[in-house]
Amino acid sequence: MRATHGLALALVLGCSQVAPRTGHMERPPSSPPPSAAPPPTAAPPPPAATASPAPPPYDLAADRERIRVQAQAELGDGTQTALAQGVFVLVAAPGWNKTALAASTDLTTRAIDAYYSGRFDKRPERAIGVYLFADAASYQAYCKARLGGECDSPFGMYHPDIKRIVMNAGPGLGTLTHELVHPIVEADFPRAPIWLNEGIASLFEAPVLPAKGEIHGIKNWRLPRLLEGMRAPAEQREARLDVLFGMSDDKFRDAEEKLHYATARYVCQWLDQEGWLWPFYRDWRDHFADDPTGEKTFAQVTKMTPAQANAPWTRWARAL
Ligand SMILES: [Zn+2]
Repeated sequence: MRATHGLALALVLGCSQVAPRTGHMERPPSSPPPSAAPPPTAAPPPPAATASPAPPPYDLAADRERIRVQAQAELGDGTQTALAQGVFVLVAAPGWNKTALAASTDLTTRAIDAYYSGRFDKRPERAIGVYLFADAASYQAYCKARLGGECDSPFGMYHPDIKRIVMNAGPGLGTLTHELVHPIVEADFPRAPIWLNEGIASLFEAPVLPAKGEIHGIKNWRLPRLLEGMRAPAEQREARLDVLFGMSDDKFRDAEEKLHYATARYVCQWLDQEGWLWPFYRDWRDHFADDPTGEKTFAQVTKMTPAQANAPWTRWARAL
């Protein structure tokens, strides 16, 4: 994310693939090294024992505690934490009060329940810190002090290198339901292109959760950018459903990034409304090697090629 913008209703402009920040690559604490004592003489040595010792097993409880201790050290005594869904350690920076933390924890719990109800399958295995700041000033101050510079997005980011979501929760918790998608996609569909990753994440930045296990996205502030792209002669070839298929991650992040976000987001909303999003996502994930662009899976699910689907999708978006 390179530029801020002035939309008053803007909630999220997050991104998933943040370049690792050198000097801030915290790791889970290592377990004590294996005992140096020789194994019992009766036990045969394992065949690969001399090649390389197995790394210590990951200790989830210890990692969650490490996140809590680190957050307290970084943010001070007023910091509160809460655990959601086993791996998400929510960290309320001073200013994000107890009631707001409870609401954030409840939303995380309900959203994750829905994300794993016929949508995603594989869960993150390692603890993820979710830092919630009450305003832009405290959020940016943290990025500058701890993450090597100003936050690229004015609303929230997921840092995969340190398993940490950092967000300005002041504008609303849509940022939270957006950013939670990124570590989930990282676990569930690690080869997903950014357009799909950000399209789904952006869909859920304006979430509705009508019942347990259900989550959908409704129209939000990204629509005007899409409609502008559909109208502008210079951008019409970008504001199309079919341009996403085969779009590289670098292309997604180019000068038309905001239009690409909007296009991907509304393609995902349309697919979800038609009941196609999750069959498409899951089938593509499971057959990615045979269908790297997703076009074949899209056609199987929707009975249209991406080029054929552009017209009905465009009509739908213009009528929103
Ligand atoms: Zn994002």
